[in-house]
Amino acid sequence: MGMLKDKYGLVTGGASGIGRACAIRIAREGGAVVIADLESSRDKGEDVVKEIRSFGGTATFFCCDVANEADNAALVNEVVSLYGALNFAINNAGIGLYVRLADTDAADFDRVIAINLRGTFLGMKYQIKQMLKNGGGAIVNNSSSAGLRAVNLLGAYSASKHGILGLTKSGALEYANDGIRVNAVCPGAIMTPLMEVQSVEYQKELVSPQAMSRFGQPEEVAAVVTWLCSDESSFVTGVSMPVDGGGDASY
Ligand code: NAP
Repeated sequence: MGMLKDKYGLVTGGASGIGRACAIRIAREGGAVVIADLESSRDKGEDVVKEIRSFGGTATFFCCDVANEADNAALVNEVVSLYGALNFAINNAGIGLYVRLADTDAADFDRVIAINLRGTFLGMKYQIKQMLKNGGGAIVNNSSSAGLRAVNLLGAYSASKHGILGLTKSGALEYANDGIRVNAVCPGAIMTPLMEVQSVEYQKELVSPQAMSRFGQPEEVAAVVTWLCSDESSFVTGVSMPVDGGGDASY
């Protein structure tokens, strides 16, 4: 415990699933975290804040649509006005779209790219500007197994998640000597609200490429994200780290 003591930062999509688990784990490690999510998820976000405060952690909720540029700037300002610096940022918010490529509506494709890819870009843009001012920091982007390979019915999503790895490597390369590290996690099939709504058949299809024949838990992703946010990973930047029960190894 204490890996993120005296570190201040944010997690987008922090009201649910993997983002929620990241916020809780980071707070348990002594970090102060702003939980950013949509207005429609405010109640769930406030519940995560309550849970963190119940064990003595530090957290607040901030309403942010990652597809909106001004919201991303405001989110970084919120962390700085509360805590004085931005030491870590987790770009986690994302949506799925489950349809074959040629049947994908252009508007749906645009929405996935706007939230998953452009949202990550906008987040990084303002986070990096602030980290340059406060002498460095660590950014962790949430990609996916679908950022490393194709997954049936996930064409637009997969394109967005491959793009996140490009942004991750670019950020790592350009800012390494400014003390800013940028890494990505590539989770396999993780049991979250996003996954729970899928059919049992499709869930089995998503788990089947993994060496471990089970779903991962959000906490198992949060453990890796927390390490990547901490100084324990000080010589690690630009990686696309599978957290997938051996899915990448067995592909
Ligand atoms: P989740 O439980 O649905 O959580 C996603 C959170 O992001 C929700 O609170 C959602 O709010 C929020 N969100 C959606 N659009 C947003 C926006 N425009 N601005 C801010 N917040 C927004 O899903 P999850 O499974 O934890 O997924 C989190 C991340 O992990 C996503 O990027 C996903 O692609 C990635 N991932 C998940 C898996 C998996 O198997 N679960 C695997 C690989 C990667 P609402 O609920 O109000 O929409």
